[in-house]
Amino acid sequence: MSKSCLTMDKLVSHCKTVGFVYPGSDIYGGLANTWDYGPLGVELKNNIKRSWWKRFVQENPSTYGVDAAILMNSRVWEASGHTASFSDPKMDCRECKTRYRADNLIEEHSKGEVNPDTMTNEEMEAYIEEHHINCPRCGRHNWTPIRQFNMMFSTSRGVTDEGQDLIYLRPETAQGEFVNFLNVQRTTRAKVPFGIAQIGKAFRNEITPGNFIFRTIEFEQMEHQWFCKGEDGDKFYHEYKQKAWQYLLDLGFDEAELRFKDHDKLAHYAKAACDIQYNFPIGWSELNGIHNRTDYDLSRHQEYSGKPMQYLDPVTNEKYVPYDIEYSIGCDRLLLAVLCAAYDEEQLEGGDSRVVMHFHPFLAPYKVAILPLQKNLGDKAKELYATLSKHFMCTYDETGSIGKRYRRQDQIGTPMCVTIDFDTLEDDTVTVRDRDTMQQVRLPIDQLVSYVQERVQFN
Ligand code: ATP
Repeated sequence: MSKSCLTMDKLVSHCKTVGFVYPGSDIYGGLANTWDYGPLGVELKNNIKRSWWKRFVQENPSTYGVDAAILMNSRVWEASGHTASFSDPKMDCRECKTRYRADNLIEEHSKGEVNPDTMTNEEMEAYIEEHHINCPRCGRHNWTPIRQFNMMFSTSRGVTDEGQDLIYLRPETAQGEFVNFLNVQRTTRAKVPFGIAQIGKAFRNEITPGNFIFRTIEFEQMEHQWFCKGEDGDKFYHEYKQKAWQYLLDLGFDEAELRFKDHDKLAHYAKAACDIQYNFPIGWSELNGIHNRTDYDLSRHQEYSGKPMQYLDPVTNEKYVPYDIEYSIGCDRLLLAVLCAAYDEEQLEGGDSRVVMHFHPFLAPYKVAILPLQKNLGDKAKELYATLSKHFMCTYDETGSIGKRYRRQDQIGTPMCVTIDFDTLEDDTVTVRDRDTMQQVRLPIDQLVSYVQERVQFN
């Protein structure tokens, strides 16, 4: 299938039908920009997190993981600048009262070719007028002026009604890594350069015209902060650009569907910043960001907490606040890209067709499907399920023709189907069918675990 045939609607429908992702609070009519992961989605998401953690923590002896609290002292958000300026340019359609981000309207209208980050609010208003961008919901053109809205969700904490403190659901995981800089450095005796990584939920009061899980109000981030000497910042910035790129290639992404995009407008504290964009069905859009954030974050926390965030170099006796190279990728957004890249509709010989998800086997929700050719082979098949499921996520299916069962596994991306037939009872061999090539091999059961293991590695 050519990639241009994949629409977001088609993907949403496939995900709902087979059990990857459902609309949040579905039976109550949903809640805008929330989605629930189903039985397949939760496996896919966990495998994405495992692949990232393996690559950026497990295989990096100088990176340490944390799992910080979602609710943090409000001073954190004053220090980080979020209380004062974590806002988006919003405008409302006066006709149907739907609210949009002006920058998103421009990005989507131009299919990612125009970068609104460099525009002032007045320039964005002018662009929307000039290009006559209409309300995506009602199709009319009657906009309010742009206003800035803070995107942090607030809640309150306290045991009495009078003594409530305003606190926030974190809008990014990064601050959990910064406030633990000293804890991690001291407890691990890490020497600069070293990294702190975290996977966790973040919350933003986003207003979007849909686009599935691309932009949601609750999402997971996978973030890696690399603390280094200021003079090494450029070197590590380029190193992390390459690492972030290579990670995506190793997950099976086609290089032609990815591109680097340097930020045209840098935050006042940043020395360099870029995104990796993916060619989603909605056009080229940010998948992850890499920033040289200088010593800004640790210095701000030093200023606001009054605790020195300095590192004492044991060799040179030099004391300094390290620079930070941040690599941040949304787990849900990566999952969306993985779904888009994997989805395919293939015409087969004999006029048949199939929907197939070509996931990297490490990411596939189930590694193996166990299919007894006939129901009376079920005992042997269940025995095999019990053996293999100690090693991998497996699924079992005994209903329908074998062809139909293969198709069911193809559309959820199971890389291997194992068929048990009457010969299996005689000689303990099974047929293993490959999802992508549809080729079959006959194997002794006692070789299955190592056969599958070899094919589901992520290296
Ligand atoms: P965007 O420009 O798309 O709003 P951002 O530049 O604000 O993203 P960061 O704050 O750098 O994003 O967050 C890092 C990553 O987290 C992004 O690259 C993206 O993958 C993911 N992300 C950010 N906001 C959302 C969201 N609302 N829903 C899903 N993922 C998100």
